Amino acid sequence: MDIKSATFVKSVTNDQNLIKDELPQIAFIGRSNVGKSSVINTVLGRKDLVRSSPTPGFTKEANYFLVNENTYLVDLPGYGYAKGSKEDQAKILGLIQWYIFHPEIAQEKIVVILDAKVGPSYDDLGTIKELEKAKKDIVIVVNKIDKLKQGEIHKALKIIESLIGPHTTIPYSAEKKIGVEKLREVLFG
Ligand code: GDP
Repeated sequence: MDIKSATFVKSVTNDQNLIKDELPQIAFIGRSNVGKSSVINTVLGRKDLVRSSPTPGFTKEANYFLVNENTYLVDLPGYGYAKGSKEDQAKILGLIQWYIFHPEIAQEKIVVILDAKVGPSYDDLGTIKELEKAKKDIVIVVNKIDKLKQGEIHKALKIIESLIGPHTTIPYSAEKKIGVEKLREVLFG
């Protein structure tokens, strides 16, 4: 499946600049440093459309990208940056909650990125629970799968499933470009 076009639209922080038109919105969330920027760039086939913030925890906007002229990809700030101040953490969580649970936005899908080696963090588990409660359509991307030996991958995926329950799950490596086509199909196919 081809990504014919992918362009940055705008950064959004509040009800005044939120995009509420008829196009579907797909949100990307994950712990800071999980490789969210790398996953988005690889799935869109663009080298550095999304730049990871030089200071993790610095970005506090929802960044909208228009894909194939028909779908928005919404990049939300990474949560759980250990060195971030309490205020910054609260701001980031506030923005994520505002966007994800906004009464006027029904996201087509929410992509939660996990680290294959680390597994779901406490924050990841909390986030997934909330999304389930709100009956969101969740896609789990298990990134950095290249860090695991071939024989460890199945076991790691089983452990993740036992912790978060059954969801559409895509083993992924932004570095080695594993799972890219599958994720494209699930999101834009
Ligand atoms: P973000 O903060 O979640 O946007 O994460 P980045 O995309 O900036 O990536 C964080 C770090 O993880 C960088 O050093 C990346 O090179 C590395 N990284 C991202 N994806 C992968 C992957 O699939 N495999 C490995 N081994 N490293 C990755």
